[in-house]
Amino acid sequence: MPSHQIDERFAQARHEIEQLTHETLHLYRHVNLLYRIGEAIADSAEPDEICRLVLRECVRILRARSGRIEMADGRTFGPTPLAPGEALRVPIETRNGLLGTLTIHDDRGRFFTAADEKLVRAVARHAGVAIENNRLVQGLIQKNEELQTLDRMKDEFVRNVSHELRTPLASIKGFAATILQDADMPAETLREFVGIIDDESDRLVALVNDILDLSKIMAGRMRYVMQPSRLETLLSEVVRLLRVLAAEKGVELMLEVSDPVELNLDPARIAQVFKNLVGNAIKFTDVGTVRVRQWLADGEARVEVSDTGDGIPAGELGQIFESFYRVEGGSRAREGTGLGLALVRGILEAHGAHLDVSSEEGRGSTFTVRFPLGEQGQASHEPQDPDRR
Ligand code: ADP
Repeated sequence: MPSHQIDERFAQARHEIEQLTHETLHLYRHVNLLYRIGEAIADSAEPDEICRLVLRECVRILRARSGRIEMADGRTFGPTPLAPGEALRVPIETRNGLLGTLTIHDDRGRFFTAADEKLVRAVARHAGVAIENNRLVQGLIQKNEELQTLDRMKDEFVRNVSHELRTPLASIKGFAATILQDADMPAETLREFVGIIDDESDRLVALVNDILDLSKIMAGRMRYVMQPSRLETLLSEVVRLLRVLAAEKGVELMLEVSDPVELNLDPARIAQVFKNLVGNAIKFTDVGTVRVRQWLADGEARVEVSDTGDGIPAGELGQIFESFYRVEGGSRAREGTGLGLALVRGILEAHGAHLDVSSEEGRGSTFTVRFPLGEQGQASHEPQDPDRR
């Protein structure tokens, strides 16, 4: 073969090898990019990290000028292109919908090839899966933390319940045993001891009822019988029931109704709420007044229970709604389980109502219940019937 032909063949072979090398390199970069995106999926990388990685690698491999990702939630990555030019735009999506769009920009008059588009689509698909995976993992982590908190709360509740039940039970057992051992006990002492057993049994029944109610609320199993009810009637009834208790302590108990109103509520449960709030106000007040006020303001029916009693230390205001929480202190040897306010809050939440408290130690406390007024006249504001007063 003549030498010029050999040279020609040689040059052609070299050209083919260069071409192949170039294509292989290109293919290698594509595979490498897909591999790295795959790794990000396996690591369940942060969505922001994935977006930045995708942008950087796509721009590098396609030798483009810049890239930009616009997520459906409004977040963006990468610069806005300065000059209009060729753009390759593909969706970042999963089976559950569109997460955003990935755009690769070039303003040098170069056109993206079909192979480029195929690659960018594949990358965007992988990125979608990675972002979705990350969201699922984060959701699972949060659920797990919530479950652990619930588990701790349940343990603490059981511990507290056992402790609270033990006290009256020990007292009942102790007095019953003393009576049994002493056949000659004087009738007066016997009566006194049986009286204590009776009182402790009442405390036990009240405690068990509160615990049952609270566990129903916590499990979301509390049944409410909602019906149109006049708030002022309900409040009058509560005040009437507790008047004796207030009178025994020499505390003045007042009810002031400014705007009679009918609300859709469970009357028995809401009466329980106000029995607790007014009962506490009387219990923690030795001198002065307990005042119950009801009025309408800002689309709400409001009821305020205020007293001139012990008050609550500012640092403990946030905790008094926790079950079994009781403020400790010298003058505070009052009866109670620490369950009342937890019940009150649970019942009010089920009615869509809010409970606020303000207090000053040594001066008194104010608990305010705010019922939202229904949209279609579910709660109606009517003038009070003069015959009912
Ligand atoms: P308790 O059965 O002890 O009354 P609650 O859950 O009703 O339980 O109240 C929790 C704690 O909040 C009470 O023990 C008391 O320390 C404080 N508290 C509630 N209401 C008042 C009030 N009106 N004045 C002062 N302290 C109050």
